[in-house]
Amino acid sequence: MNDLNQARNHVLAQIQQACLAANRDVSQVQLLAVSKTHPSTLLKEMYATGQRAFGENYLQEALEKIEDLKDLEIEWHFIGHVQRNKTKHLAEKFAWVHGVDRFIIAERLSNQREATQTPLNICLQVNIDAQDSKDGCQPDDVADLVKQISQLKNLKLRGLMVIPAPDHPQAFSDAKQLFDQVKVHHAHAEDWDTLSMGMSGDMVEAIAAGATMVRIGTALFGARDYLSQR
Ligand SMILES: *Cc1c(COP(=O)(O)O)cnc(C)c1O
Repeated sequence: MNDLNQARNHVLAQIQQACLAANRDVSQVQLLAVSKTHPSTLLKEMYATGQRAFGENYLQEALEKIEDLKDLEIEWHFIGHVQRNKTKHLAEKFAWVHGVDRFIIAERLSNQREATQTPLNICLQVNIDAQDSKDGCQPDDVADLVKQISQLKNLKLRGLMVIPAPDHPQAFSDAKQLFDQVKVHHAHAEDWDTLSMGMSGDMVEAIAAGATMVRIGTALFGARDYLSQR
């Protein structure tokens, strides 16, 4: 039993507890291990505990780790802000991109995804609580973007991603409501199954509101030291 094993078991127990309290099946909530700033060796240790889905925010750093760990069966998720000129690597190397908030980005990802690969899984990022300096489309734009993006060939639009301000759990319920609204009108409703929300500090509230994927960094790996890494 090492520390990472303990940390992961603790997080899984918290997820289970939150599901129980919310009367949800624990299989409905996936744990994404957010590994930004941590070295490949640590990811490898986390992998050994059974973790397969890892989330990264910074493209260059992520590409190095993907290369280092290419012999492992990791499912790579990009959860950072997507810049228009960086889509090619995302399309080629990742299984999921969570931060899509404009049609042009989705279109580029679709065009740059090889037809021989499985479709790239996408979450539409929504600025659910009207933060000023925040990425994400407006809630009012979601319906149209879903309609447009779900027609792109090499993508699979899976749902929504939100990063509400801390101490604003109402935002999780708003996101869930929007998520359900879209599903009703969605031509590809069978693909629409992911609500990516909740981090180390607020995963319980996010699960209570309906999160299907929680993105957990600190509670798994400890505090991040940006200075030593970047
Ligand atoms: C860093 C990050 C996380 C993880 O945050 P913790 O508080 O360390 O769990 C989750 N989601 C996004 C988008 C992040 O950038």
